[in-house]
Amino acid sequence: MTQKTIGYVRLEWTCPVCGSRNPGPQKTCSGCGAAQPAHVEFQQAAQEELLQSEEEVRRAKVGPDVHCAYCGARNPADAQICTQCGADLSEAAARTSGRVIGAFRSEAQPDIACPSCGAANPATALKCARCGSSLATPMPSPIATASAPGRGAGALFLVGGIAVVGMIAAMIFLLAKTSDVLGTVQGVRWMRSIAVEALLPVTYQTWRDEVPRNAELGRCVERVHHTQDVPAANSQEVCGTPYVRDTGSGYGEVVQDCVYEVYAEWCEYTVMEWQPVRTETLRGDDLAPRWPEARTGDRERLGERMEQYEIIFATDGSTYTYHTRDPDLFSRCTIGSRWILQVNQLGSVTAIEPAP
Ligand SMILES: [Zn+2]
Ligand SMILES: [Zn+2]
Ligand SMILES: [Zn+2]
Repeated sequence: MTQKTIGYVRLEWTCPVCGSRNPGPQKTCSGCGAAQPAHVEFQQAAQEELLQSEEEVRRAKVGPDVHCAYCGARNPADAQICTQCGADLSEAAARTSGRVIGAFRSEAQPDIACPSCGAANPATALKCARCGSSLATPMPSPIATASAPGRGAGALFLVGGIAVVGMIAAMIFLLAKTSDVLGTVQGVRWMRSIAVEALLPVTYQTWRDEVPRNAELGRCVERVHHTQDVPAANSQEVCGTPYVRDTGSGYGEVVQDCVYEVYAEWCEYTVMEWQPVRTETLRGDDLAPRWPEARTGDRERLGERMEQYEIIFATDGSTYTYHTRDPDLFSRCTIGSRWILQVNQLGSVTAIEPAP
């Protein structure tokens, strides 16, 4: 991010003695003649205009004003001796500078009513044109800043997380705790399947320079690839809202934060990939499972194989079904054979072994 200076504006300060508003460059109050103390900060004018006078721009750039170590009077940064008491200014303290005061107020502001006599005065006026009273300063408009994420949401996530962990722990406990039950094989079922795959076009999206070499290039659009501080071949400068920074001299520097958005081509591309197109399945209820006959056509191949077995056990008063993918275990489950079933708290069989 780079900061660009758009120009300079005149600031204001309010006299702590009499409350009068004074132009920023003016070092003593026009209402009561008091000098501006070091702690009285500059503020924005109700309506700001970029300075055209070269002399004023020079004074704005010269650096923060200094306060005389002896009498406290405000003097320009490049002054050698105090204009009020003649003291040497080499020991003088510089005013603080760099503070962001607010968003640049270039738009015309509505008239303000005099608090004493009610007369309407332009927003730029410091004193009432009719009665001479000081006019109130409108509150500076703050620059919008990203608000920090709420702490409440984080706490909610934490509580939710603990609840989920607790539920998982309870499930593991229920599933792990088993009891042994004696069962007899009553029936068996098997299912075997083979997926058939074909080479088919698949479309993806990526940056132009990341498109695979063997791919077919599709439609491309220009998109912001990244932002940077320096211009590039295919870039566009984007700037934020201008804002005013206190230079310490009674003038404000109007600045803007800018970046260059660098564009690149975001493209669709198509590649050929093996994808499942159909599944051949064979089922049976004996102990001799077989693979289905899967024929492959042009540009096709055999894919993933799957086997699932079910064994139905009768126990003292109820029936259990055990699921497995182990063909050897399945082949030993002859009708009428006796097995010890491990049954968990949810009533599912988690393992079986031959009864002694
Ligand atoms: Zn005053
Ligand atoms: Zn002095
Ligand atoms: Zn008035």
